Formats: sequence, structure tokens, C-alpha cells
Amino acid sequence: EKKYDYLIVGSGLFGATFAHEMTKAGKKCLVIDKRDHTGGNIHCKKIEDINVHWYGAHIFHTNDKFLWDFVNQFTDFNRYTNSPIANYKGELYNLPFNMNTFYSLWGTKTPKEAKEEIARQIKHLNIGEPQNLEEQALKLVGTDIYEKLIKHYTEKQWGKKATALPAFIIKRLPVRFTYDNNYFNDKYQGIPIGGFNKVIDGLLAGCDLRLNTDFFDNKSEWLNAAEKIVYTGKIDAYYDYRFGELEYRSLRYELEVHDTENYQGNAVMNFTDAETPYTRVYEHKHFEFGTQPKTVITKEYPVKDAQNAEPYYPVNDEKNMHILKKYQDLASKEEKVIFGGRLAEYRYYDMHQVIASALLKSKNELKNE
Ligand code: FAD
Repeated sequence: EKKYDYLIVGSGLFGATFAHEMTKAGKKCLVIDKRDHTGGNIHCKKIEDINVHWYGAHIFHTNDKFLWDFVNQFTDFNRYTNSPIANYKGELYNLPFNMNTFYSLWGTKTPKEAKEEIARQIKHLNIGEPQNLEEQALKLVGTDIYEKLIKHYTEKQWGKKATALPAFIIKRLPVRFTYDNNYFNDKYQGIPIGGFNKVIDGLLAGCDLRLNTDFFDNKSEWLNAAEKIVYTGKIDAYYDYRFGELEYRSLRYELEVHDTENYQGNAVMNFTDAETPYTRVYEHKHFEFGTQPKTVITKEYPVKDAQNAEPYYPVNDEKNMHILKKYQDLASKEEKVIFGGRLAEYRYYDMHQVIASALLKSKNELKNE
């Protein structure tokens, strides 16, 4: 008889949600994480009494009432609404592209005027089926917005020319013909009061936890530590990279503390010119309407050589998906190991989606007993 029913590798949102559901069902869970803190990428560090989003800004949003209630059981959420500002060489514009943006750019006041202006700009371009990101963007928003707000920002992010990037990346570009600066369309949105760590702490209550513990330092022993394993690390690492490494796009963060109460007046500012080396500046206190005397900002830089950096965004192109398929074939034959979360599934998940996935997998697990 083993001491634990489940060993959960990774205390991010997937692992923590899975652990929560299993603990609730009376199972004994041990959660390990190689980092010195829980929460994976939603972890916040307190600096100057401000919750600093350590791995990039996180805003919870969902259309699903059940998931909204689920996260609100651990702490109430505030009314934060994501409305980034774009900064193009000192000119400021509202995001996502909406009537406010169009008014600042062109002085257009009605949706009809704005649509006519966009149509006028792209008429002579004769774009048919867009062949790349540049053509797709031009077709959606015209030349001005493309030049000032999309082209250089996207090229900085990807380290590639917009004409060399596939069109699909920008298919769902939010464009609105209303005066609405809310970035997300979802019904529910906010930041947990007290920070994301509150949610993670609530999820992990009642299970055993070991930090600074890498599964691979002792793989064979860990495999015997529990009846079943839930693995939320990189799937290629689990199989010793035998079919090659899956690629990720990465980011680098530089933190600054400023002796001022309010640095940029908004939580998120995107720098959309080519010259500014960073892509975004976050001012963390604004996620929680903070009134602390100082402020903490993070500059976000794209990373060129992502291989040794923190893996953030999977690159789901043909080459990587082909490699992934081979790993998935092995994973599907495992009897003791459940793979879940963004790294084990090599999939971009928003927070609400990763919670939904963990809830579904834990439910199936309990059903199949
Ligand atoms: P992770 O959080 O990565 O957790 C995996 C954990 O496993 C980590 O703690 C890691 O240390 C641990 N681990 C890995 N390997 C090992 C090992 N060998 N041994 C022990 N432990 C190991 N979502 C939103 O909904 N809204 C947003 O605004 C938003 N912004 C984002 C911004 C950025 C820059 C990024 C990259 C993502 C953003 N997301 C956002 C997505 C969100 O971060 C993810 O949905 C979520 O964090 C995924 O949780 P996870 O548990 O799958 O993975």
C-alpha cells in the first residue's frame, strides 16, 4: 500500500486544481514543484506591498459562470477590466482597436465614418485571401493601424517579419465599432483580491507539498511514490527529448521600483514602435487599484534564443506538432501517468481553460475508479 494516491508534479493551476478535487474526494495527494514557490506562472511576489505578477501579467476572464464561481470560492475578485494603452513614439491609443482608437487616429466619430476610412485605406491594396500576417492585418484594420499599432509590435514579439508570419496568428484580432476599451469579450473578469496566490493556496489546502523538488532528480523513485502520477511539466522532458525538443517562444522581464505613487496611470502599456526594445510595461498596483506610496513596474522583452529561457508560448507549427504527436502516442499508452496543463499538453491555455481541463480530468479519474 502506497502512502499517496496521487503524486502531482507541478503546483501550477492544473496541478493545484487536480489536487483540490482529489483531496475533496478523500484521496491523499503529494504535490511537488521544482520552483521555490507554488502557483506556476500565476505566482505573485509581494514587493513594496504590491502583488507583482512574476511571470507576466495575468487577468482572469471567462464566460463560464461555473468556473467564475469556482475561483471565487477562494477569494472575491475585483472589478479590474483589461484596457491596455498603445504607445507609438509617444502617441497614445486605446486598445483593443475601437471607436476611441479610430477617433484619435482619424477624428472619425461614427462607426460608418470609421468603416469608410478603413475601406478607403485598403481599397488600392487588392488583398484577396491573405497570405501572411501583414495582409491579414491590413485587410482587417487598414494601413494606419497596421503601421502604428501592429507591424513593429508583432515583429518585435516574434523576431520575424510580418510578411513571414502566418495569417492565422491575427485572425481573431479584436476590432470593435463601439466606444468600448474592454480588451476581453467575456462576461466575467477580474483579479483575485489579495492576489493569485490566494487561489493557489486555497486549491492546495489539505494536500502535502514539497518545493524545490525536481521530478527528474529522482524519477524512478517518484514513479513509485504514489498509485498514480499527474505530470504537468514538459512532455518532451518526460521522455528525455528522444524525438527532439519542442520549441517555445519566451519573454524576459526587468523589474523596476519607482519612488512615485503612479508611474504610467494604467496596468498595461504596449510599446508598438520598432525602436523601443521592450514590448510592454506593466504597472502592477493598477491590477488591484493600489494606493501604495511606491510603484513596481515590469518591462517585458522578447527573447531571441528561447531554448534556454522560461518556456512561455508553444510554437504550434507543423514541425512541432509532428514531434508532439510522437510524444502523445507514448503518453496515451501510460497506465499510471496522467498528462495535463500547458507544458504536458504543449498547448496555450488561458487560466479558466486550464482549470476546466483539470476539473474534467479529475472527474473522469474518479468516475473510472
Ligand atoms: P504552469 O503554471 O507552468 O505550472 C507547471 C508547474 O510545473 C510549474 O510550477 C513548474 O515549476 C512545475 N514543473 C515543471 N517541471 C517540473 C519538474 N520536472 N519537477 C517538478 N515540477 C515541475 N491566462 C489567462 O487566463 N489570462 C492572462 O492574462 C494570462 N496571461 C498570460 C501571460 C503570459 C506571459 C503567459 C505565458 C501565460 C498567460 N496566461 C494567461 C496563461 C496561464 O499562465 C496558464 O493558463 C496557466 O499558468 C497554466 O497552468 P499550468 O499548471 O498548466 O502550468
